[in-house]
Amino acid sequence: MEHIRNFVIIAHIDHGKSTLADRLLELTHTVDARHMRAQYLDQLDLERERGITIKMAPVRMEYSLDGQKYVLNLIDTPGHSDFSYEVSRALTAVEGAILLVDATKGVQAQTLAKLRAARNSGLTIIGAVNKIDLVPDPEKAIQALADLLGARKEEIFKVSAKTGEGVPELLAEVIRKVPPPRIHPIGEYGKTEISVPRALIFDSLYDDHKGILAYIRVFRGAIRAGETVRLMATDAECKLKEVGYFIPKLIATDEIRQGEMGYLATGFKEPALVKIGDTVIPGDFHGTNPPPLPGYREPAPVVFISFYPDGATKFADLERALERLRLTDAALNVEPDANEALGRGLKVGFLGQLHFEITSSRLEREFNLQFLTSFPSIAYRVKENNTTRIIKEPHEFPASPDEVWEPMIAIEILVPTQYLQKVLSLTNVFELSVGHMKTLGDNLLIEGRLPLSELIRDFDDQLKSVSAGFASFSYELAGEEKTEAEKLEILVAGEAVPALTRIVRKNELEREARVTVERLKTLLPAQQFTQAIQAQAQGRIIARETIAAMKKQLGDFGKNGGDRTRKMKLWKKQQRGKARLKEAGKVIISPEVFREILKK
Ligand code: GDP
Ligand code: MG
Repeated sequence: MEHIRNFVIIAHIDHGKSTLADRLLELTHTVDARHMRAQYLDQLDLERERGITIKMAPVRMEYSLDGQKYVLNLIDTPGHSDFSYEVSRALTAVEGAILLVDATKGVQAQTLAKLRAARNSGLTIIGAVNKIDLVPDPEKAIQALADLLGARKEEIFKVSAKTGEGVPELLAEVIRKVPPPRIHPIGEYGKTEISVPRALIFDSLYDDHKGILAYIRVFRGAIRAGETVRLMATDAECKLKEVGYFIPKLIATDEIRQGEMGYLATGFKEPALVKIGDTVIPGDFHGTNPPPLPGYREPAPVVFISFYPDGATKFADLERALERLRLTDAALNVEPDANEALGRGLKVGFLGQLHFEITSSRLEREFNLQFLTSFPSIAYRVKENNTTRIIKEPHEFPASPDEVWEPMIAIEILVPTQYLQKVLSLTNVFELSVGHMKTLGDNLLIEGRLPLSELIRDFDDQLKSVSAGFASFSYELAGEEKTEAEKLEILVAGEAVPALTRIVRKNELEREARVTVERLKTLLPAQQFTQAIQAQAQGRIIARETIAAMKKQLGDFGKNGGDRTRKMKLWKKQQRGKARLKEAGKVIISPEVFREILKK
């Protein structure tokens, strides 16, 4: 125990966390040179392709300092706000954090957010400025980081995660400064309870051979291979087929001791049995009811998007894939859903737009699925006839509610002073209210409030573009506010297409309506008769386009019912048979059209 150190690397996105982890893997000879590759811990294809970390990645390393051998458990973490639940779980499994700042960028919004989270978890924090191969004398970044940490400039480490310069010194400081693992609980329970071994499940994974793996941090006693354990929240028992360490591959061992991290092969196939944040105790203690470890506050999903099977994919495939993904992404929230036009689907709650994009790519790539997705929606609280309820489905939104409240976020924007005016100009485009501002080195920290719906509406891109990429931001949910929002329905040939229904802020209603019907006009194939595309709100048509009748370009199919089938067959062939046809009213809306129109 005395010679174990558990720590994380935290930073704003791209400041070099995963690259620093590479140097640590090398320095400790955890991964041999032949197998080394950049951002080694980013194991998902998607992480490698996009160059971002999505999952926390634990690794056990061994290292000798001054003749003493140490076990170092490191967790590399993602930087983006959408994955903050990954970070918060990693923080509860460790005692220390390296807070890394890119010398070329300086302190950015996630630097602040991550530091706050690490402090809230009571971690020992070591500051380091990275990329000194690019900026050999990073005075400003050092000063800014020292100010944040309340440290002296000499206490900030200078490293290059690329060349490895300064990395041994930084690791030595981790060993010196981060305390050995803490033990829970500290003497407030009866004797037997205290001695019950306990481990916290901080992550999980589905393994085709071993079943569900629970990633644990042991807070008391040891968990041994072959013993029977109980998961307290789900009351599930299993005989452990295997326990082991992350090196970073899964390597079996006899036991995971107090203060250590590792995995348990539960043998379970049923994802619901392994709950993130649950406490693992030995099965023998059944009945003594030791107090569980604190666990986690589950994150509130903010954006809801429905997935509908498409092509060769069945509903059950989609359901199973999402269950599997939930094991590695505890922030996913899945509920059944059904839609007139698209059939049975699943409504998935996400922590943000990137979280959605990553999840849908994983469904496509790791599970080979085809699906359609609805417009993103958020949860509104709606009052009608003196009752209030939460509405997540746009088509359930009443035509004329008495009052509507929408979720708000508290946002922190960090921007170089010269871009202040440009950033403030965003208040003309978005319902952004600016509150407190303060100087932070060369930067201004702007605190504000923004409706969540505005964040989804491209706030990210716009902020980046007005600030030439220099502004960064972080946010968290912060209550709700009254708003004026309405249901916008799209009618094709006189029939509403539920999948295209959206809730829109009143002052954007006209514009959204226009844009949508115009886009649909360009996307929908011509039919044999002229037809209308209309946008409707509060029972009124507020925008309209007409698709002219089709020219006889696909061959002459005549006008009777039988030929319609033939026409569809041909059309299908033209889509290379891969897509199922959607029928909405008299008009066929192909998956491709849905896909296009549902794009942001
Ligand atoms: P993360 O998002 O914090 O994990 O950052 P990554 O480790 O993925 O690094 C982001 C980018 O910065 C990558 O292109 C790295 O090659 C680069 N990078 C990281 N550390 C250094 C460094 O010390 N020097 C230089 N020149 N580039 C670095
Ligand atoms: Mg990374």
